[in-house]
Amino acid sequence: MAEKDIKELKSELRQRDFKIKELESLIVHDPLTGLFNRRGFLALANKLFQDVRHFQKNKAEREHFVIKSFAILFFDIDNFKKLNDTFSHKVGDQILQFASSVIMGKVRISDFVGRWGGEEIVVALIGSQEHDAYQKAEEIRKAVKSRVKIPKHPDLKITISAGVAELDGAYSLEELIKRADEAMYYSKLHGKNKVTQYSQLVGSKK
Ligand code: GH3
Ligand code: MG
Ligand code: MG
Repeated sequence: MAEKDIKELKSELRQRDFKIKELESLIVHDPLTGLFNRRGFLALANKLFQDVRHFQKNKAEREHFVIKSFAILFFDIDNFKKLNDTFSHKVGDQILQFASSVIMGKVRISDFVGRWGGEEIVVALIGSQEHDAYQKAEEIRKAVKSRVKIPKHPDLKITISAGVAELDGAYSLEELIKRADEAMYYSKLHGKNKVTQYSQLVGSKK
């Protein structure tokens, strides 16, 4: 094979590898926001859930595992349908990208963030209990409200509602996420643009 052909072949193989990596990345990422998609988020969160539970049960091994707990933050953009209808779907997409980047900028590199569905974003906050999670969600809620910058729409107002729940007490990951979602729904029913802790919701039902 001529040297030129070998070079071309190598370049083709590199391009193919690159394409495969790109496709692999699409399996777990959301292309619009760059966040994990639901599948990617659940894969990581499930692993985390299993590990934390395992080390909680196995006292002898516990000291080797630094993550003692984690919390879920569940965000939903307020009145998103109206924003889409008023300003266009394209602006709606920009709002999603903006909210995602604010959230990414506020969490640690070890935490992970996923697009749960349409305009719902979930975060696994590593090492946090519900109160820390509440404070983080409040910080994000305020930042989204005050920092909004959508090109050509400087006056546009965006708010988000959130719910938070901690691992303790939840018997499965699904249950934990459901708790955070229920708390978010409570925020929606009580005026939006607020954060609710699941434990307070349970308290208020008593
Ligand atoms: P609430 O304050 O109660 O959350 O009301 P809402 O209008 O935000 O919620 P609703 O569930 O009624 O509307 C969600 C909208 O999100 C409807 C759907 O068209 C839109 N949506 C879902 N995915 C995308 C997307 O990728 N881009 C854009 N621009 N819109 C999306
Ligand atoms: Mg919404
Ligand atoms: Mg929604």
